[in-house]
Amino acid sequence: SERMVAPVEGEEDAGESRLRPQKLDDFIGQAQARNNLRVFIEAARSRQEALDHVLLFGPPGLGKTTLAQIVSRELGVGFRSTSGPVIAKAGDLAALLTNLEAHDVLFIDEIHRLNPAVEEILYPAMEDFQLDLIIGEGPAARSVKIDLPPFTLVGATTRLGLLTNPLRDRFGIPTRLDFYDVADLVKVVSRGARILGLRLTEDGAREIAARSRGTPRIAGRLLRRVRDFAAVAGKDVVDKLAADAALTRLEVDGFGLDAMDHRYLRCIGETYLGGPVGVETLAAALSEPRDAIEDIIEPYLIQRGLVQRTPRGRLLTPAAYSHLGLVAPSASGR
Ligand code: ADP
Repeated sequence: SERMVAPVEGEEDAGESRLRPQKLDDFIGQAQARNNLRVFIEAARSRQEALDHVLLFGPPGLGKTTLAQIVSRELGVGFRSTSGPVIAKAGDLAALLTNLEAHDVLFIDEIHRLNPAVEEILYPAMEDFQLDLIIGEGPAARSVKIDLPPFTLVGATTRLGLLTNPLRDRFGIPTRLDFYDVADLVKVVSRGARILGLRLTEDGAREIAARSRGTPRIAGRLLRRVRDFAAVAGKDVVDKLAADAALTRLEVDGFGLDAMDHRYLRCIGETYLGGPVGVETLAAALSEPRDAIEDIIEPYLIQRGLVQRTPRGRLLTPAAYSHLGLVAPSASGR
């Protein structure tokens, strides 16, 4: 995606690994998730057992991959990483699992996109640390059981609702990540500036934070772009004015919305007179895949109170009309 504020990792983010926190103490915000994990990690360590399986869910860019890496580092174990759509066959997963060492973390991103045949062999692996494989075909086929080292599966998903129940039930530590508030994003941005060696004032950090859609990945990206603008303008210190100028050039508005968000909101507000309008209709009108609308565009707009999801479809709120500078249709018109 070319969107400056798209939460999904793109080429833009090649530099982001420098900003990744390495320890639980450096992970900003998400106090509940952090505190729970700290307790469970501590307990697993003292019992010298594998940590129970962890499911991280929430919108893209909030730190799921980062937390998975931190968990393995805090446990002092190895980290292997893959993603749901990459594991094509049961044998691919079997190969990954049999190569784990005791107590290792296996991270599966986009775990809602596992193929069902692969998911099937994950169940006994998670529950009993056993692989049930069928070798051969037809009458000669036989099943073999292979013992696995005890391991921790850390699954990540942006779509909890798309996980099958049997898979969901096998995670002992379900952990939800929420959008960050501005105060936490100020910390994310200030920390990033320190790492990048950029002098950023407090109100400069706040300006970037407020326009980052509650998402650290976007905060990091906007920070790097603001830094580029400052460098070109020959500015040593980035303040609110400089940050605002750069973000305005990048067409990111005061709420962190970009042209795509505006298109989406205007489509509901103008074409569909405020809604309700179904997501399929919106997808067709905007020529965007439904998934992208539901996973990427909508979560933040809903959290910001600009859009409501109702059984009859999407509805624009008065806050959205006022943000767009449009006049809301009268309630009797709905
Ligand atoms: P996800 O896996 O949820 O899409 P990532 O873990 O890849 O998100 O995080 C995206 C970027 O945001 C990372 O490069 C990381 O530097 C930054 N980040 C995420 N969470 C935090 C946090 N709590 N504190 C500081 N930086 C964070």
